[in-house]
Amino acid sequence: MAPDPNTATDPRRRIPRTDVLLADTRLGPARDRLGDDAVKRAVQFAQGQARAGAIDVERVLDAALAALPDAATTLRPVFNATGVVLHTNLGRAPLSSAAVEALVSAAGYVDVEFDIATGARARRGRGTLDALRAAVPAAGDVHVVNNGAAALVLVATALAADREILISRSEMVEIGDGFRIHELLCSTGARLREVGTTNRTHLRDYADAIGPKTGFILKVHPSNFRIEGFTASVGVAELATLRVPVIADIGSGLLRPDPRLPEEPDAATWLAAGATIVTASGDKLLGGPQAGLVLGDADTVTRLRRHPLARALRVDKLTLAALEATLRGPATPTAAFLAADDTTLHTRCAAVAEALESAGVPAEVVPSSGAVGGGAAPGQDLPGWAVRLPEHLAQVLRRGVPCVVTRVEKGHCLLDLRCIPATADATVQGAVIAAARTSEQPCT
Ligand SMILES: *Cc1c(COP(=O)(O)O)cnc(C)c1O
Repeated sequence: MAPDPNTATDPRRRIPRTDVLLADTRLGPARDRLGDDAVKRAVQFAQGQARAGAIDVERVLDAALAALPDAATTLRPVFNATGVVLHTNLGRAPLSSAAVEALVSAAGYVDVEFDIATGARARRGRGTLDALRAAVPAAGDVHVVNNGAAALVLVATALAADREILISRSEMVEIGDGFRIHELLCSTGARLREVGTTNRTHLRDYADAIGPKTGFILKVHPSNFRIEGFTASVGVAELATLRVPVIADIGSGLLRPDPRLPEEPDAATWLAAGATIVTASGDKLLGGPQAGLVLGDADTVTRLRRHPLARALRVDKLTLAALEATLRGPATPTAAFLAADDTTLHTRCAAVAEALESAGVPAEVVPSSGAVGGGAAPGQDLPGWAVRLPEHLAQVLRRGVPCVVTRVEKGHCLLDLRCIPATADATVQGAVIAAARTSEQPCT
């Protein structure tokens, strides 16, 4: 029977007071790192445990330390063992260490809009814009906004408010989470004029639709689906003959052609073909931070940059820093994961599977088809390998520390190592062993 808390001998009356605990020097570093509120919550949690008799009163401070969150954010780092390189739910492109360093050092005061030599105001993010211009010499000028959708909104607002945007019926794309490009465009006050059919659109369909109200022709790369069979579409070069601005939304952020992704359009090629403006995302194939890239005709870019809406879509210094480092720096993790070598992947999977087997976890190396994901290269298979585990481990791995997100397929949990840095194989392997042990424990 629980002792009566009203008796003086009850140890629960000796639970240290909150102010005493908070003043303990052992909690000092946590206060600096996490803030007073988080530390106070951990202290109160530990006091509650002691009050409930779950821990000794002498252990309240230890319990408070153990209850502290790892970081001052609720965002949890996860290992992406899904095989999907640009997983929108997992934050799309993981940044290169160069980009991470750049954004950390930009976190304080920086000369983002300031000329150190003269002390005068300078063009915001000019280093990033220079890097982008250098990466795509075909672009007369460039601009950066918050994401690909923002780039489209800016273009539609500045160039087609109260006017018409011509778009093929085969390019009325839903980009995910219920967002549709044509609805986004209509929200700006522009009117969409659909041309052609779902499977076939010809140059004459566009030509017939052009009138005094035409703002521009929009070419949208169908980045997350493919139409096959009796199809026809009009390329940028042909559209550019119609003497109306052509805005080309490539989505993926590929700046130059990539022989490994032959069907993926790139900014340089579409600009050379005559696109007035190309829009793209920064956190897809480019492998950078979330951003919207606007590249093309210098006068048009100036119009976009000067439009009042541009201020509302302005990117943060952290984005500018990470984007510049992505453009100038070493190959990105995205590029490395896309190009992961088949033999190396197999060797890594085999080593992990063997270690798991000898720890008593059923594991087998199986072929695994990864994907580019995140609205890029929809038809492109990424053949690789995975470690096949019992299905129930998927949930345990997700809820564990570290969190490992796997792919569940046909009643199995697939641990695909493509998007896991090789240096983390042992950590992930340890997480699987821990997960298997946890799930063995009988329910109490
Ligand atoms: C992804 C994508 C967008 C939206 O870009 P965000 O950066 O996600 O806002 C727009 N158009 C196409 C073709 C895309 O693939």
